[in-house]
Amino acid sequence: MKIIEKVEAIKQQELTATENLEQMYSIIEEKNNDINAFVELDLQRAQKVAENIDNRIKNNEDTGKLAGLVIGIKCNINVEDLIVSAASPTLKEYIGSYNATVINRIIEEDGVIVGLTNMDEFAAGSSTETSMYGPTNNPSAPGHIPGGSSGGSAAAIAAGMCDIALGSDTGGSIRNPASHCGVMGFKPTYGMVSRQGLLDLSMSLDQIGPFANDTTGIALMLDVITGYDPYDTTTIKKETSPFIDDTKTTSLENTTVGIVKEFMDVTDDKINNVVNKSIDQLSDLGADIKELTFEDINLGLPTYYLINYVEFFSATRKYDGRKYGERIEEVCGPEVARRIEIGSYISQKEFSGKYYKKALQARSLIRNDFNDLLSNVDVIAGPTVPKLPHKIGEEIDTMDMYAYDILTVLANITGIPASSMKSGLVDDIPVGLQLQAKPEEDHKILSTMSALENN
Ligand code: GLN
Repeated sequence: MKIIEKVEAIKQQELTATENLEQMYSIIEEKNNDINAFVELDLQRAQKVAENIDNRIKNNEDTGKLAGLVIGIKCNINVEDLIVSAASPTLKEYIGSYNATVINRIIEEDGVIVGLTNMDEFAAGSSTETSMYGPTNNPSAPGHIPGGSSGGSAAAIAAGMCDIALGSDTGGSIRNPASHCGVMGFKPTYGMVSRQGLLDLSMSLDQIGPFANDTTGIALMLDVITGYDPYDTTTIKKETSPFIDDTKTTSLENTTVGIVKEFMDVTDDKINNVVNKSIDQLSDLGADIKELTFEDINLGLPTYYLINYVEFFSATRKYDGRKYGERIEEVCGPEVARRIEIGSYISQKEFSGKYYKKALQARSLIRNDFNDLLSNVDVIAGPTVPKLPHKIGEEIDTMDMYAYDILTVLANITGIPASSMKSGLVDDIPVGLQLQAKPEEDHKILSTMSALENN
């Protein structure tokens, strides 16, 4: 049953919100010990919410767009009364004192938030192995990393523990775990979704977005969380048509899809073979396929990490041990420590404009060149991640870890929307198809995903 059909079934009282919660919760109880997708659960509160929805439906009262759906939230998004630790010992006792804007919107639309999901410490990673709660297992490729940093949210969806989950994506943290776990993940255009209440990794790159097993789940959540928010001045003021309408797309006539040679060049051949089949499918659905080249590909990672280090360093200055618990430098893991140290160094050198200014120049260059590429096509299709996920605990050096992000960071640097959906399997491990489009053309991505799903 698709997510939109489940919402209907709940409204028609064929399934109650309480039953849906019970079903999902029993899967959590059965599998979470092994998967470690959820790090905190709040069954009592969820039960109350579900009962309230059921009562209102019985009394013929109106209910919201997400009525009765079970939702998981990445543990770097503020939810009142839950421990919002960003998986860091720094914040291990920090209890959310307010709801992020996205959380308030989910509650208004009757989503049933069941708990918080695992992630890399402060979202700085691609494997969910740096969490203070321990690693998350990949339900679709047991023993392998689920990807990161929103690995808990992707794994929760892959394991059937919730209907929709939220993650955050700074350099790929929604799309990368969606790819490795074989689910759908969507990073909206920068500014489409309020970041108010998100603990930032790198504020000019961060964006919140949904995971689900089908496009209707993605669409319903986007319809709820997108839109202007007076508490986040970077949000875009613009009304768009409902995303749920895009999910009916069946044909791609009049759609031009770009394929970028350099994206395939950096990717494992086995992954390319699978992704090429999805591209053939796009062509069978009527899309016009166009070959493109993007020569700045090797600028992406250095530009991304430089900006990330500097912005993260600045964001962490509030964790000085006075207001939120422990001083970050004293308790954080090695990756977070590295970013703080290098970020501090780069910031000190800033008066000479040695690094950060260059990164900002590279960012403009990448943005201009990427916009040129997109000006000829509706969407760009290609692999999400260039290599398969490693085994949990396998030693992998920092540069190899960063290399997972080469195809995903570009969308954050440029602010464009991007998604990942399952393309197929390589050695029994899911691999994702990434779709990218012009800023504010999120609808085109969802339509393309839907056309693939509906055929
Ligand atoms: N893996 C990237 C990093 O470590 C992306 C993280 C993210 O998107 N939050 O910064």
